[in-house]
Amino acid sequence: MVHFVGAGPGAEDLITVRGKEFVERADVIIYAGSLVNPALLKFAKKGCEIHDSAKMTLDEVLDVVKAASDKGKEIVRLHTGDPSIYGAIREQMDALDGLGIGYDVTPGVSSFCGAAAALNLEYTLPAVSQSVIITRMGGRTLVPEKESLESLSAHEATMVFFLSAGDIKKLSDRLIAAGRSGDTPCAIVYKATWPDEKKFRCTLKTLPDVAGENGIDKTALIIVGDVVEPSGYERSKLYDPGFTTGFRKGTDN
Ligand code: SAH
Repeated sequence: MVHFVGAGPGAEDLITVRGKEFVERADVIIYAGSLVNPALLKFAKKGCEIHDSAKMTLDEVLDVVKAASDKGKEIVRLHTGDPSIYGAIREQMDALDGLGIGYDVTPGVSSFCGAAAALNLEYTLPAVSQSVIITRMGGRTLVPEKESLESLSAHEATMVFFLSAGDIKKLSDRLIAAGRSGDTPCAIVYKATWPDEKKFRCTLKTLPDVAGENGIDKTALIIVGDVVEPSGYERSKLYDPGFTTGFRKGTDN
């Protein structure tokens, strides 16, 4: 049995209780060493076999899983943040289906949630933005043309860019060329929730300089949108004294 577990964004106490229990029980752990905090491995039991998938191919990961599964061992595949976001889990699940090996998934706190917490940010402010676009700039992995950064940015909704810190100048240039104002509020969060977390608020125009001056070129999220520095917003209806909800009678009716 393979347990895909979301390790959370970095801080070792941001793994879920269920995820931690799977880690404690595992006979074999394969963790994404490029981004998962190795401090989480201290929860592993004595004698647990540990592999860093950053140094392995998919086939090598599957070889380890198959060998362990044949011996009836419990396997944890530890992914950073939440496994469903750029986690490359579909290809593993399809291969496990082919091998007849069972699996389940334990969600994790994605880094985009860790970044919002670091900034005390609400991504969905009434009258500012009610949508969060999670995307990336195309690199070696292409982004389908129909969801190009240019077309997505036309919504002026909150955008969170993963896997794009390697060329922040290009990101800024493309968004401005697509029509976003250079004054659009932005933030960069490097290693959200890790002990060496860094966060910067800036604008779309100043984004490349802020990243460059602070040496940010990986393990960062770029957040674009007015929710970063809202000039105003509407209060929520949920807590509006006048508004009746399924749980509370408002003063307006
Ligand atoms: N599944 C992960 C994302 C994996 S893709 C999640 O849910 O967070 C890897 C990218 O995620 C990195 O290039 C970076 O853009 C982002 N990332 C992961 N952890 C991060 C962190 N603690 N702080 C900022 N960005 C992070």
